[in-house]
Parts: sequence; C-alpha cells; structure tokens
Amino acid sequence: MENCIFCKIIKGEIPSEKVYEDDEILAFKDINPAAPIHILVIPKKHIKSLLDLEETDYELVAKIQKVINTLAKQLKIEEEGFRVIVNCGKDAGQEVMHLHYHLLAGRKLGSKIIG
Ligand code: AMP
Ligand code: ZN
Repeated sequence: MENCIFCKIIKGEIPSEKVYEDDEILAFKDINPAAPIHILVIPKKHIKSLLDLEETDYELVAKIQKVINTLAKQLKIEEEGFRVIVNCGKDAGQEVMHLHYHLLAGRKLGSKIIG
C-alpha cells in the first residue's frame, strides 16, 4: 500500500533491522524499543488491523505465531518468557495501520496488561 510505512519497509524503501523473512512474513526490530527485545512481526500482505483479516488470512495468523515461537527459541527467551501484543484501533493506540505483532522480552514486563 502506498504511504504505508511497513509496506515501505517490506519493499526496502525504508531501512529496518530484519530478524526473520520469508515469502509471507517479515520480522524486524522496533525503532523505539519498549524492552531489550522488541520485534515487530508483520504479514507482507497489507492488512490494516486484526479486524480486517479476511477468511483466507487466518492461516497467515497461525504462521505469524509460528514465527514468533521460532524467534523466541532463537533468541533464547523461551524460558524467561515474553509477551505478544497486537493493538487494534484507536483505544488500543494502534499507530501504524498495517497489522503487526509486538514481541517483547528481555526484562520483567511489569503489569500483565500494559496500561
Ligand atoms: P502500534 O502503536 O501498535 O501501532 O505500534 C507501532 C510500532 O511501530 C511502534 O512501536 C513504533 O516504534 C514502530 N515503528 C514505527 N516506525 C518504525 C520503523 N520505521 N521501524 C521500526 N519500527 C517502527
Ligand atoms: Zn502496509
């Protein structure tokens, strides 16, 4: 999508620190990390938010979760733990309208729900 910052990252028009890539999924470091490990996992398909998932996209969601688990093992955070967050819409504070999963780890993450 034009003017979508994450689509530009996928196309390489904006630099990013990639940590995983395949045909359908990209993972890269968040530019403003909220924890020592803060990775964004995104579908390459431009999907605006969780609510915009189409019937055929649910398989992609499962693949994203698989990538998150693979990364957790690679980064050796599976024992200490990690948090996965998806913000959807205004009240959740979604800023980038391209579906993204935050993977946070590397410190005690405090409250169970970031408020
Ligand atoms: P959200 O508030 O859930 O929409 O999260 C958007 C996230 O994207 C924030 O954590 C930002 O720090 C991150 N972000 C924005 N621009 C970039 C960029 N160019 N590279 C990496 N992360 C970014
Ligand atoms: Zn996009």
